[in-house]
Amino acid sequence: MRHQKFCRFVEMNPDKPLYGLIEGNYIFALGSSPFDGTQTDTSEINRINRIDIESVRLLAPATPTKIVCVGRNYKAHAEELGNKMPDEPLIFLKPASSVIATKEEIVIPPSSNQVEHEGEIGVVIGRKAARLDGKQNPLDYVFGYTCLNDVTARDLQRKDLQFTRGKSFDTFCPVGPFIATGLDPTDITLTTRVNGIVRQHGNSKDMAFPIAYLIQYISNIMTLLPGDIIATGTPAGVSKLDEGDIVDVEVDGIGVLSNPVKNLSA
Ligand code: ZN
Repeated sequence: MRHQKFCRFVEMNPDKPLYGLIEGNYIFALGSSPFDGTQTDTSEINRINRIDIESVRLLAPATPTKIVCVGRNYKAHAEELGNKMPDEPLIFLKPASSVIATKEEIVIPPSSNQVEHEGEIGVVIGRKAARLDGKQNPLDYVFGYTCLNDVTARDLQRKDLQFTRGKSFDTFCPVGPFIATGLDPTDITLTTRVNGIVRQHGNSKDMAFPIAYLIQYISNIMTLLPGDIIATGTPAGVSKLDEGDIVDVEVDGIGVLSNPVKNLSA
């Protein structure tokens, strides 16, 4: 698939979200969701209907039924938290209700004193994938890639010994701003900045379990549906967020996911 960028947005009517194809500073509205289980044919798009990207509000670029996250997929990050590398992918879920768009606020709840960013490469599924057995190419089930921040209440994650509470607060899953197609999943560079200072820098080539492997592995546990997202793990350098911070997750070839931080206890 060639390199293109897609978004989801609202213009005047906030009840009418649309999918769009991005070209330069313009969006071309699509007549239907690009997640229809087929390769997207953008040659038929009516290019008269062009919208200035500055005039719309961007939404999260997909509406997943679930976000499947991979823990400890980069050795240096496992080490910084004092964890051993797993023998098979360590997966957990974030709820769809935690998803927010770029520019929306990450809200630190009063119950946590240690909310951290985890910049990640998000894989957006394009076709239903169930029990892939090695005869298929798992990458054929990918629509594209996006930036994702697996925001984590580290203190609660440690206290609970499992991940649900610490990973699932509302606003804890910024996704976007775009989905890019045509990237090489074995060579995607990711950078996380807090207030402009680089905190995390990694490349998908350093993943313990590559993206194709993750798709096949997860598809043998749960069916992946179009629009579902796999958060592929975070490189080293996670750090605490607080009131007034701006956290940016940039993935080369996609764009910058930028979110301000609000601390309800501040
Ligand atoms: Zn993560």
